[in-house]
Amino acid sequence: MNQKEVNKKNTEQAAKKDPQEPSAAGLNRIKKVIAVMSGKGGVGKSTVTGLLAVSLKRQGYSVGIMDADITGPSIPRMFGVNKRPENIGFGLMPAESSTGIRIMSLNLLLENEDDPVIWRGPLIGNAIQQFWNDVVWGDLDYLLVDLPPGTSDAPLTVMQSLPLDGIIVVSSPQELVGMVVKKAVKMANMMNLSVIGLVENYSYTICPKCGEKMEIFGKSRGEEGAKEAKVPYLGSLPIDHKLAKFCDEGRIEEYESSETKGMNSWVN
Ligand code: ADP
Repeated sequence: MNQKEVNKKNTEQAAKKDPQEPSAAGLNRIKKVIAVMSGKGGVGKSTVTGLLAVSLKRQGYSVGIMDADITGPSIPRMFGVNKRPENIGFGLMPAESSTGIRIMSLNLLLENEDDPVIWRGPLIGNAIQQFWNDVVWGDLDYLLVDLPPGTSDAPLTVMQSLPLDGIIVVSSPQELVGMVVKKAVKMANMMNLSVIGLVENYSYTICPKCGEKMEIFGKSRGEEGAKEAKVPYLGSLPIDHKLAKFCDEGRIEEYESSETKGMNSWVN
């Protein structure tokens, strides 16, 4: 039995806890579960997860985001949601953004969103299982999972706790992108998953005065790294102060750019 089958079986068992009682896992119909990972923190993984969700939603899909970046959850803030998820007895209702993206994050459950979360592998695994089994996601075309940063134990624990369909990798020009993508491919292979593609963030910026394209973090290597690792290249995102501002203000859903549209070329 591969990892996906093991996870599906666990979900089915959770759904049958008490045959008389409805269960969240038993009611959820989620077509595709896609994890977003990065080689290290700060490359814009959560921002790309948010932009992917916004773009899918604009295409007419029903979308959820599971914020599995347990120790640095940032999804609620960029969507401007802070309502505590309601407990409806057999599960928790995810928060909903202004355009209807369903969001579950540990930040929404903490008393104070600035509280630090210091958890190790097993606890992270338990929280993620609960985000899967006990959240009333309902019918979703896509559930995007914002993984903890890096390619170590924490993202692997999350990946093994969920029935994933694929992985999207986010990198920046400051990294050895070939190595990051190869590691991601190895992790994906361990779980019989495919890497859907690579997005490079911070690739360039446009001078607001003269319009010149500047590669301030060095030459973009995303396309080259993706080719080397034989994974699709989904595109490059510029450093855009408007994007940073919109994320800070909880208005990511209002951000428009032609570059983000291309990131969904894998959707069929
Ligand atoms: P990660 O999830 O990889 O740790 P985040 O997505 O939280 O990184 O991004 C870190 C910070 O950088 C956030 O404040 C975010 O708004 C900002 N940021 C990310 N991508 C861009 C971009 N392309 N242009 C401008 N700011 C960005």
